[in-house]
Amino acid sequence: MVKVAVIGGGASGLACAIQIMNTTKNKEDVKVTILERLPRIGKKILVTGNGRCNLTNVNASPKDYRGEPDFAECALNKFSPQSNIEFFNSLGLYTRVEDEGRVYPLSNQASSVLDALRFECERLGVEIVCDYRAVHLKTVYTGVTTKIIVNNRDRFDYVVVACGGMAAKVHGTDGDAYDLLKMFGHKIISPAPALVSLNCDDFTKALKGVRSICKMNLVIDGEKFLENYGEVQFTDYGLSGIPIMQLSRFVSVSPSNDIYIELDTTPDFSEDALRKYLYSRREIDKGLCENMLGGIMNKQLCIVFMKECGIAPNGRVNELSDKEIEKLASIIKCWKIRIKNSRSFDYAQVTAGGAECSQFNSETLESKIVSNVFCCGEALNIDGDCGGYNLQWAWSSGRLAGQTIGERINNA
Ligand SMILES: Cc1cc2nc3c(=O)[nH]c(=O)nc-3n(C[C@H](O)[C@H](O)[C@H](O)COP(=O)(O)OP(=O)(O)OC[C@H]3O[C@@H](n4cnc5c(N)ncnc54)[C@H](O)[C@@H]3O)c2cc1C
Repeated sequence: MVKVAVIGGGASGLACAIQIMNTTKNKEDVKVTILERLPRIGKKILVTGNGRCNLTNVNASPKDYRGEPDFAECALNKFSPQSNIEFFNSLGLYTRVEDEGRVYPLSNQASSVLDALRFECERLGVEIVCDYRAVHLKTVYTGVTTKIIVNNRDRFDYVVVACGGMAAKVHGTDGDAYDLLKMFGHKIISPAPALVSLNCDDFTKALKGVRSICKMNLVIDGEKFLENYGEVQFTDYGLSGIPIMQLSRFVSVSPSNDIYIELDTTPDFSEDALRKYLYSRREIDKGLCENMLGGIMNKQLCIVFMKECGIAPNGRVNELSDKEIEKLASIIKCWKIRIKNSRSFDYAQVTAGGAECSQFNSETLESKIVSNVFCCGEALNIDGDCGGYNLQWAWSSGRLAGQTIGERINNA
C-alpha cells in the first residue's frame, strides 16, 4: 500500500488529494490521508469572496502573480482556470463569470465549494484526520526505500506540504509550512502580509465609512511605483478597498518608511475641468464652503479638504480667494496620504513571500532537496492579485502535485 500524507486540508490540499486519487489507476493500492490541524477542513474556503468564494479568474496568467511568477506558469498552463472550472463541474458544482473575469459558484455560497470537495474526498476514500498538527518532518531509509516520517510517528511514501502561509491565522495558518520545509533545508523568503488594508499616519477618523472612486499612485521614496483605480474605503485607521489591498504587498515588502498614496478623488474630471468647476461655483454659490463640493464628492471628504486647505467649512464659497481655489484643486486631484505600514497578517488575505520556488521543480512541484516531498498553494513564494487568482493558484498547484504523485504511483 502506497501511503501519501497531504499536510493541510485547505484549498490546495483538498485539490491535491482528489487529483492523486483521480490519477491513480489502482485506487485500492493507495491511501491518501489529509492531516488538518483544525477540528474541520477548509475553514478558510468558507470566508473567501465574502462568503461567496471567488474561486478563480478566467483571465489568470503568470503576470497576475508576484514573488516568483515564472514558476507558476507550468501549473497555470496545465490546470488553467477553464480546467479548474471543469474540475468543479465534474463535482456537480457550476459557476458563473462576473466582472473582470471573476468566477463564483452558481449557489453564491462558499460552503458549496467546500462541500463539493469534501464529498469528492469521501467518495474517493481519502482519509481526513482533523486536530492533527504536523510539526516535524524527517526521512528514514528502511534498507529498501526512503520513508517520510511525520511527527516522529507516522510513515508515508509521499508528503505534500499544503499548509498555507501566514495570512488569517484564525483559519489555521501561521507559518507551519515554513518550519516543516526548513527541516529539509528549504529557504524561506520573508513572509509579509498581502491583500490587506493600510495604516496611515495621523489619519482623520472623520472619514470612517466613506467610499470614493479614486485614481491612485503608490509613491515610495519619492518615485511613482504603481498606479491603480477603484473604490477606496476610508476607515478609522487608514485606507482599505480592493485597489488599496492590491497595492499593499508592495508596502509590506518595502524597507522604506517614505511611502505615500496619492489619491485623485475626482478621476472623472481633468485638472482643467475641475478648476473651471471650482471657479464657476465661486461665481454663483453664496452658500457654505462645507457644501461646495457636494455635487461631485462625498460631503465628509469636502469638509476634510476644506480643513486641510485652511478654509473654514462655515465660510462662504463666493468669498474664496484664487489661492484657496488653487489649493483646493490640487488636494482634490492629488491628496498625499502618508502610509505608516500595512495591517498585520491577522487582517491579510494572502502572504507575500514563502518557500523559495526555485528549490522546487516547477513541472512537478517536488522538492529538489528531498525526493517525494511536494509543496503547493500559498506556502510557496507566489501571491496573486485580488479577484480569484489565489484560489486559482491553490487549485492548480495542488492538482499538479497530485497528478505527479498519481503518475509516479502508476509507474512504480
Ligand atoms: C478573508 C479571505 C478571503 C479570501 N478570498 C479569496 C477569494 O475570494 N478568492 C481567492 O482566490 N482567494 C481568496 N483568499 C485567499 C485564499 O483563500 C488562499 O490563498 C488559499 O486558501 C490558499 O490555499 P492553501 O491551500 O495554500 O492554504 P489554506 O487554504 O490556508 O489551507 C491551509 C490549511 O492547512 C492547515 N494547516 C496549517 N498548518 C498545519 C499543520 N502544521 N498541520 C496540519 N494542518 C495545517 C490549515 O488549518 C488550513 O486548513 C482569501 C483569503 C482570506 C483570508
